[in-house]
This record gives sequence, structure tokens and C-alpha cells, in this order.
Amino acid sequence: MGRRGARLKTKKIFLLVLDGLGDRPFDGHSTPLAEAKTPVLAELARDGSTGLIDPITPGTPAGSDTSHLSLLGYEPRVTYTGRGPFEAMGLGMEIWPGDIAWRCNFGTVDGSMLVTDRRAGRISEGTKELCDSLNGMEIDGVRVLVYPGVEHRAALVFRGPALSPAVSDVDPHEAGKKTQESWPMVREEAAARTARVLNHFVREAHKRLKSHEVNKEREAKGLPVANFLLPRGAGEVPRLQQLSERYEGFKAVCIAGIPLVRGICRLAGMQVPIVKGATGAKDSDLAAKARAMLDAIKTNDMVLMNVKAPDVCGHDGDWQGKKESIEKVDGMMRLIVDGLKGIECVVAVTGDHSTPIETREHSGDPVPLVIWGPGVRRDRTAKFDEFECMDGGLGRMNGISLMPMLMDLANRSVKYGA
Ligand code: ZN
Ligand code: ZN
Repeated sequence: MGRRGARLKTKKIFLLVLDGLGDRPFDGHSTPLAEAKTPVLAELARDGSTGLIDPITPGTPAGSDTSHLSLLGYEPRVTYTGRGPFEAMGLGMEIWPGDIAWRCNFGTVDGSMLVTDRRAGRISEGTKELCDSLNGMEIDGVRVLVYPGVEHRAALVFRGPALSPAVSDVDPHEAGKKTQESWPMVREEAAARTARVLNHFVREAHKRLKSHEVNKEREAKGLPVANFLLPRGAGEVPRLQQLSERYEGFKAVCIAGIPLVRGICRLAGMQVPIVKGATGAKDSDLAAKARAMLDAIKTNDMVLMNVKAPDVCGHDGDWQGKKESIEKVDGMMRLIVDGLKGIECVVAVTGDHSTPIETREHSGDPVPLVIWGPGVRRDRTAKFDEFECMDGGLGRMNGISLMPMLMDLANRSVKYGA
């Protein structure tokens, strides 16, 4: 027979990730997915196979970052290098492999460097201007990037040679304590150098922040000033094996509005086009996303699409909104399934985690999965929801198994053994 795939025609792959899709029965309702009208997803379930996915392992509430890593075939416990780099990505920062990133708070310190407020009165305005005043500093060959987050939060990134994430926090993690000098946590010059640059940076930042217009105004209004940046949780932006290396020459595209997913896909070596109207919010233009997907699939091997709305509704505790957002996705799937006629494509629809209305947070409940397309076996399930998928032929698997399974269905796997 020779090497599998040598003569076989390969197929394309479309992976649709509905963010926060899974849910629990709550308050007399079934789940939003179970009660939503989803004729297209039901068609896929009827003609394909369904199952359940534990994005990480059973019972582990996954973040969108760890889950997307897993769904793309990266072992999250190895590749997830802490929240810093991924939060920076989530804020839309263009970060590169090897960068060191921290999560930060704008805080208030007194004259003796005692932290009187770790959130500077939950400052909500002016943090962009404050970040701008620090952004782009060069210290000892390190380029410093600072980016505002929600309220008092920000991300700090160091870019340069010979850096290490093995440094202690400047943030004392408690009000009433002094800011900490960062120190190297391993005996390595890179760690010592990173700590030195970090200490230099926070001192310089303090100088600039103290005299900033935004803080003068806050002082005049009697508000706590944001005169200190408190970095914590250093992490290195991981160097992921590119999908094109793992699967020789494989070309993949990500269509997503949210920066976090875009950032992870970029690290995996995927193309990440800007789709006008794809906002990563409830009002995202799904028809535009469908068009972009159909366009991308022609010249690429795989498209991953993320739709964020179900997760947003889950966090808001908006049962009705979550149901409607799923119905909109079903409408989009009509366009995609019709548009795929004549293209050999394996289609998978799943979630990256559950965001139940009950908890308004990510939970460890498994998410439903359907796989449909040419060559995909048909099981007895005929609807796509948390309950029907319990009986599906794909059974229950960890997220990291999905990519190998899709690659195999697409005739792109390599035999293990003789
Ligand atoms: Zn998510
Ligand atoms: Zn979420």
C-alpha cells in the first residue's frame, strides 16, 4: 500500500468553535443549545457523528486560551506559559515568541513606596494616555511595550535578546505593603538582566506617571493617583511548533474577532485576516465571516472560526441571548454548508468550554461535538446538543485528540508503526 496519503486525495478541514457553547439545565430551562432552533446543525448531526469534548480534561474549566491550544493539538500543560503573554494577546498586542509579558495593575503608592491602593481607585479613564507615556521605552537593549486593559489593568511586554521569565513580582499582591524589587529566581544572567531592566523600568515609570496630566487631574478631584505600575506573573510567549511544520506544508487560516484567539492562531503559524464586521461581540457580522471562510478554504487546507457571542451571553447570564446567538450561527452554517458544495471538506463544530448561565463563568462541563463531511461515519444521533451528543458515536474525548482525528478524516495522517 505504501505511505497513506501518498495517493489518497486529501480533504479540507473547517473547525467552528462556538465560544462558551456548553451549558447546564437551569431555572426550569434546558440548555440554550438544546432549546435553540438549529436545523442545519441537526442535519450535520444526522448525517455525521457526534460526541463530547473535555477541552483539557474532565472537570477542568478551560480558559479560551488553553482550550484553543488544545483544540489545535498543542498540549496546554506544556505550551501555556502563564496568563501574562495570553492576556497581552487578548488585549490585541502583537507579541512575538520569546517576548516576556506581565499582567499589571495601575496602583497608588505613597512617598515611601507603600502601596495604598492596588487598583488606583479602579481607574477607568486615562489609562491609555498613561500607557502611551511609558510605551516604547528602550532600556539596555530591551524594548518596553505597555498596553491598557480594562479599568486598572494593563499588560507589559519586554522584547529583546537574553531575557527570562524567571523573575519575581514587583506587585506585593496586597495593599499596605511596599512595592518589591524584582529578583532573579534562577542563577542565570538572563534572569538577572530581566530583573534589572524591570526594576529600572518601574522606577522610570513611577517618575513619568507621578507628573502625568491624568494624575494631576485625579489629584485635583481627590481620586487615588495611578502613579505606579505593578507587574506580576512574568511569562514567556511560547514558541509553538508551526502547523505547517507539524503537518508538512499545511496552510491554515483563523477567522475570529477576539484578539486572544487571533493571537494564539498567529503563534501556531496560521494566517489571521481582518474580516470587516467580525467583532467578537454579539453584533458580529456572521455572513461576512461565512464569506471570508468560503474564500479562505479555496486556497488553504484548514479554516478555524471562532464565534464569541455564546460566551458573552453566558457571562452575562443571558439565557435568551445565548439561544438566539446559537440560532444565528445555525443560519451562518446554512451559507457555509451550501458554499462548500463541490469542495471535499470535513466540518467539525464544537465549543472551547462551557459558560453556563447558572455560573456565569467557565465550567468543566464537556462540550458537544459534531463531525460531518465526505467519508465521516454516520451514527444514530440526529441533533446537536449537550444531551444528544452523549449518545454519539465519537464518545467522549479530550480536546487534544480533535486535530489528529480531523487530520485523519482528511486523509492527512501519517501511519504510526509499520
Ligand atoms: Zn472561550
Ligand atoms: Zn469566557
